[in-house]
Amino acid sequence: MRLILFGAPGVGKGTQAKILSAKLNIPHVSTGDILRLATREKTPIGLKVQEIMNRGELVPDEIITGIIQEKLSTDECKNGFILDGFPRTVPQAASLEKMLLDLGIKDINLIYISAVEDELVKRLTNRRACKVCNNIFNYSLIKDSHFCPVCNAEDSFYQRKDDREDIIRNRFEVYEKSTKPVLDYYKALLDIIYVNALNAVNEVTESIITQIEARIGEKLLISA
Ligand SMILES: [Zn+2]
Repeated sequence: MRLILFGAPGVGKGTQAKILSAKLNIPHVSTGDILRLATREKTPIGLKVQEIMNRGELVPDEIITGIIQEKLSTDECKNGFILDGFPRTVPQAASLEKMLLDLGIKDINLIYISAVEDELVKRLTNRRACKVCNNIFNYSLIKDSHFCPVCNAEDSFYQRKDDREDIIRNRFEVYEKSTKPVLDYYKALLDIIYVNALNAVNEVTESIITQIEARIGEKLLISA
């Protein structure tokens, strides 16, 4: 099973990718995670990427495409993968087409998670991350607590720079300009699966699975 999760910043691509990765037993390939790891470890690419992300801009296509190509060629991705955050531009989508052709892959499902911008901005500026375990929480749920509900660290919450409203609005502008055209690119190529980001997380997952099953005409093997 090969999935591309697509949608504006904050629609919950990462959350759905993690859930689907566990349920379907295929790796979650997140450009965001790979880049964050590189910046945390201060690799040469990481340092360059940090500066670009701080401005809320997109990392250049050749950096991203190289990272993805490397990943998709590994044994780990042989039987399937979930792409999250890629492709984000039409040139990236064209590069992916070529990569998949080289790998002999034809069965790709594009899932478009959609929502209204203002709702998403509200959701994103409400996020806090734990600097110890990196999990993300809704601020209203943890604001009275000093301890992380996952790892129990004390006073470990912070707002990631890319969750600030000015940075988010800038990301939306970039999304409208560079990423929306990717949707049109794919509309001409394949049948897109649509889901509503404003539904509950488990409803979104369910809708994705049901629609894939309807498409392939069989039940998926789901891990608990
Ligand atoms: Zn934690």
